[in-house]
Amino acid sequence: MIPELLLSDIQQTINAITGTPTKVISLDAVSGGDINQAFRVRTQSGLYFLKYNDAVRFPGMFETEALGLKLLKRLNAPRVPKALAHGESENHSWLLLEFIEQGSYGKNFWDGFGLLLAQLHKNSNESFGLDHDNYIGSLPQSNKKHTTWNEFFIEERLEKQLEMARNKGLVDNNLMRSFNRLFKEIPSIFPSEPPALVHGDLWSGNFMCDANGNPCIIDPAVYFGFREMDIAMSKLFSGFESHFYEAYHDAFPMAPGWQSRIEICNLYPLLVHVNLFGGGYLGSVKSVVTRY
Ligand code: ADP
Repeated sequence: MIPELLLSDIQQTINAITGTPTKVISLDAVSGGDINQAFRVRTQSGLYFLKYNDAVRFPGMFETEALGLKLLKRLNAPRVPKALAHGESENHSWLLLEFIEQGSYGKNFWDGFGLLLAQLHKNSNESFGLDHDNYIGSLPQSNKKHTTWNEFFIEERLEKQLEMARNKGLVDNNLMRSFNRLFKEIPSIFPSEPPALVHGDLWSGNFMCDANGNPCIIDPAVYFGFREMDIAMSKLFSGFESHFYEAYHDAFPMAPGWQSRIEICNLYPLLVHVNLFGGGYLGSVKSVVTRY
């Protein structure tokens, strides 16, 4: 059961959204998330999706998630749930979203997803980064702006995670030397492209298939970055269907050599995994970095 004060705040929030007293009928726990407690909220006037967590441990987490969802809401891009409200109730922070009913994958799900992601990535900005920091999973993500992707990727992505891992005693001097060698190669690895609006954490747990059989992306770690970060992340575990990549590439061709950049891009989520789940992921990091 969710804390009483939180429930009463959610009840008031839903009343304010609907503009009329709207009874919360039931709350059902939703599984599948990594970090937060999640619930389907059934009310007299329909469903809502609620997540909550410890406000002190994760300051600003839901505020930045709501901002991220709003940033991703673009015409001709993948659907995102509407961020309805967020707030704090005593020591809990919470986020109330539009509820996405799940359906079965439509015939054109993967082609459509590839095309829509390509269109999302065509949204650009003058610099890499964002006007605020956010989270990747439960870890803070720094989005300090840089004029080049190479600088941003090294300083705000790899170095930040390496520092965290060093403080946990997970990274030794040898590995640091290998990373420093890799950093020198980075400018020759990445092509020069304008910043692209990316989801930032696009693994298979962070999209859903809605009732119309279309993709809906959730749980973002948004910033303006190098667009292959999303493509690479989608391949970190099981990978999406091949139609997704073909449709993406047709709509917004990636520079030659994109397949060989995947493992470099994925050093970031792998280091995030090292910091979240421990040294078990270090082997994968080392096998990439020590080649440089
Ligand atoms: P966490 O932040 O803990 O990782 P998620 O945002 O991934 O949690 O949500 C957990 C699960 O809840 C998802 O795997 C998905 O199945 C479901 N879910 C997420 N957002 C919604 C939504 N807006 N409507 C309905 N179900 C959702």
